Amino acid sequence: MSANHLMPTYQPLPLTFTRGLGTRLWDDSGREYLDALAGVAVTNVGHSHPDVVAAIAEQAGLLLHTSNLYAIDWQQRLGAKLAEKSGLALAFFNNSGAEANETALKLARLHGHARGIARPLVVVMNNAFHGRTLATLAASDGAHLSAGLGQLPGDCVKIPFADLDALASVTQAFGQRIAAVLLEPIQGESGVHVASAAYLRALREHCDNHGWLLMLDEIQSGIGRTGQWFAYQHAGIQPDVLTLAKALGNGIPIGACLASAAVGRLFTPGSHGSTFGGNPLACRVGCTVLDIIEREGLLDNAARQGQALLECLRSEVGILPGVKAVRGVGLMIGVELDRPCRELMQRAAQEHALLINVTRGTTLRLLPPLTLSAAEVERIADALSALVRAPQGLCTGAS
Ligand SMILES: *Cc1c(COP(=O)(O)O)cnc(C)c1O
Repeated sequence: MSANHLMPTYQPLPLTFTRGLGTRLWDDSGREYLDALAGVAVTNVGHSHPDVVAAIAEQAGLLLHTSNLYAIDWQQRLGAKLAEKSGLALAFFNNSGAEANETALKLARLHGHARGIARPLVVVMNNAFHGRTLATLAASDGAHLSAGLGQLPGDCVKIPFADLDALASVTQAFGQRIAAVLLEPIQGESGVHVASAAYLRALREHCDNHGWLLMLDEIQSGIGRTGQWFAYQHAGIQPDVLTLAKALGNGIPIGACLASAAVGRLFTPGSHGSTFGGNPLACRVGCTVLDIIEREGLLDNAARQGQALLECLRSEVGILPGVKAVRGVGLMIGVELDRPCRELMQRAAQEHALLINVTRGTTLRLLPPLTLSAAEVERIADALSALVRAPQGLCTGAS
């Protein structure tokens, strides 16, 4: 294979994996790696979990697709499970996170129109990431994401993250036009920034007082990642709309937009749809993933190992020169350095057989499977400590 037939949107490391099991991946030379990234918060129950493998195999042999012109039993079952866990009665199934957020943004407009707002606005946060469609880019932050694209749909207004003064100002300036607030309770791509429980409670109250929808993007922080099914549950609040994707299918593409009954019923037959969304395979795997998390006690494990990892990192890495912060909840953890550190992704892989991510250029991000063991916690902390200590890598890095 010489010619490259892919559009140059990615810069992959020179690593190709051919097999995975649990927290481990093997490359094409047979070398074993510890996966502390889980395909960016996707394979939460581990690679090739036997129940997921069996569900895929059995469903593939029965039925993959019928379209939403017919009732799909697995969709109802997954909707019921998610309703029970989230307290949000209605679901719409998509194929990705961006689509789930598009669904949420449509609901915000319908809600605004229902309240008599001609051109409804959605309040979003600085440094947010909600996806790569044009509308979700408009809700996201960063010229780096939308360079060259020109004007994006203009119904979002951005304020600083987790800042109640900014919320008050935007209410003064645009209050009559605002229909909803959309935010990640823990910002992932921006470097793992956690909104406090106090902020989320105040925001919930503010939305109630003004008739705004509180829409949470838990595409990264949801499905057990933080030790609760959803990160908002740490704050004891209830959103009106919740978006999920990534770990819901453990690698089978699926997204979901959940809403309260009143909000979900803003859609009427024909007002939204998807060819693949909610197909029997994806929904059956979603059900299987939720069952595994429950049966194997993975919320508890994520909370326990996450706390252990955070403590190890604070004591072993947080004290090193050049480390600005160690942040996180459960197994969603960021270590911010005072310098660009993208090369540490490759050095971690080469020198420590450890897969991590670097986001926003300066933050090491850990999103390991929820099945992580105590021994693996130590291995990750030791490796990061060595990496951050050594000013230059042992390798020179591939171009
Ligand atoms: C990954 C992510 C998205 C986008 O999901 P896609 O499946 O890539 O479209 C949106 N929001 C958050 C918080 C994410 O982490």
